[in-house]
Amino acid sequence: MSLTEINSRIETAAQKHGRDPSDIHLIAVSKVQPLERVEAVLLEGHRVFGENRVQEAQGKWPNFKEKFPDVELHLIGPLQTNKARAAMDLFDVIHTVDRPKLARTLARLADETGHCPDVFVQVNTGDEGQKAGVALEDADALVAECRELNLPLKGLMCIPPVHESPSLHFALLAKIASRNGLTGLSMGMSGDFEDAIAQGATHVRVGSAIFGARDYG
Ligand SMILES: *Cc1c(COP(=O)(O)O)cnc(C)c1O
Repeated sequence: MSLTEINSRIETAAQKHGRDPSDIHLIAVSKVQPLERVEAVLLEGHRVFGENRVQEAQGKWPNFKEKFPDVELHLIGPLQTNKARAAMDLFDVIHTVDRPKLARTLARLADETGHCPDVFVQVNTGDEGQKAGVALEDADALVAECRELNLPLKGLMCIPPVHESPSLHFALLAKIASRNGLTGLSMGMSGDFEDAIAQGATHVRVGSAIFGARDYG
């Protein structure tokens, strides 16, 4: 598949559900992909990328940013508090705020540096023990805390359990966002981004459908 094809599928899905395609942001998830594949997508004109590890992103994006200064980078993987400063230096948006301690660390660093990426609160909609994300019953409180800390909170993010219907999780995330007055919804990946758009996604995170399968070799 290709970038052009994904963009046209996003447009079709948006129109089908009465949405403005320009309200849906495509994050090209470049984790683990060879540099030449990433560069090819940059050369096609795409500028919004997602990475799930701070260290991996630090290894490749400073160079690309010199060549393509208008790149917008999104952190979509779990963030350890001790990597918060590095993440804030590199990323424009952090999708994975999932606990008060991390929110407080980001707020403190934002005070120190005078700069803060936009943030999303990640919700563990499937209540999966091993998965990142704030528990469903704690989501409203974490949203409130992010607001008290003056973090630039844009919305919510989720990764549905692999073996469940993603649409139910997307709908649940949309409901939590709505009752909290949040409009951003980071949900949908290669296999289900059209379902996510149907449920209101504003940020879809698509990796393998753009770049091809990841080779973890
Ligand atoms: C890897 C990853 C994606 C992209 O997955 P694909 O199935 O390759 O589209 C999306 N979101 C998160 C959080 C990821 O880690």
